Amino acid sequence: MPEHRGLRIGFDVGGTKIAICVLDATDNYVFKTEAATPRNDYPAFLETASMLLAQARTAVPKARDATIGAGIPGEIDVDSNTVKNANSTCLIGNDVEADLARVFGQPVRLANDAQCLIASEVHVGAAKDAAVAFGVILGTGVGGGVALNGEPWRGKNRLAGEWGHNPFPSRDGEIIGSPCYCGRNNCIETVLSGPALVAAYRDATAGENTQLPEIEAMVADGDPVARAVLSEYIDHLGNALASVIGVLDPDVIVIGGGVSSIASIYRELPERIAAHMFHSGVSQPRCTTRIVKSKWGPDSGVRGAARLWPLVRI
Ligand SMILES: [Zn+2]
Repeated sequence: MPEHRGLRIGFDVGGTKIAICVLDATDNYVFKTEAATPRNDYPAFLETASMLLAQARTAVPKARDATIGAGIPGEIDVDSNTVKNANSTCLIGNDVEADLARVFGQPVRLANDAQCLIASEVHVGAAKDAAVAFGVILGTGVGGGVALNGEPWRGKNRLAGEWGHNPFPSRDGEIIGSPCYCGRNNCIETVLSGPALVAAYRDATAGENTQLPEIEAMVADGDPVARAVLSEYIDHLGNALASVIGVLDPDVIVIGGGVSSIASIYRELPERIAAHMFHSGVSQPRCTTRIVKSKWGPDSGVRGAARLWPLVRI
């Protein structure tokens, strides 16, 4: 097989930028660049994607034969194939997969960003060799994706793992979440997103507008308020992930997104998951699922998109 058959192109469409990469057969970068995402302009989005592809093909002529995958921050309707619930709103209602295929002149595989995260991490990442893996993005939004035996598993409704807009699990009727952009209340995303953690700190400090990196630094320095806010957040995360354990019981949970850089999550989360797992009250449950940080961080989306070929069975 010619060497160039192993080239794969990935796009990661974000709210602020569109990234493209070309990976070789051993998952090393051959080319990588990015451009600003046009605001509220779908034709301009398609033009920008075409321009990035032309750049990649100019820099790597053999990439003309490469497969193309794309990750988007939203869902793909199982009947119409159109995008919905995307925070890049110009994509909503469009058959992005078909339109990209038309402007690129070849088939394109589309998946959401959390599915791309886990597609990347099961190959040469934090979930390598896991039979059952769950990927979580804790960023501007909250998403999840599943991989089984090394391949992303999208599911019958293309929603496997997408639990960010399920209701946050409550006991005794306590509502912790808030109204969500999706039109419902109490979504997991409204409790566990990066902005939700920032808002929790703001509430605890009567209005201090402190962002994630500073909160992380204060936790490391032992700041008691930051510690308390983060402890509660980790308990909420454990609560939401205990539902995942109850259904999927994965070997590994990979965490990506801006919140994933907070080191104490990995120390404290297994115990907090266990506290919310099914138990009789007689024996103390233990969470044996490995909880790990994504290896590729912000690059997991574009790398996983490239890896949608030939791994996703559509
Ligand atoms: Zn929602």
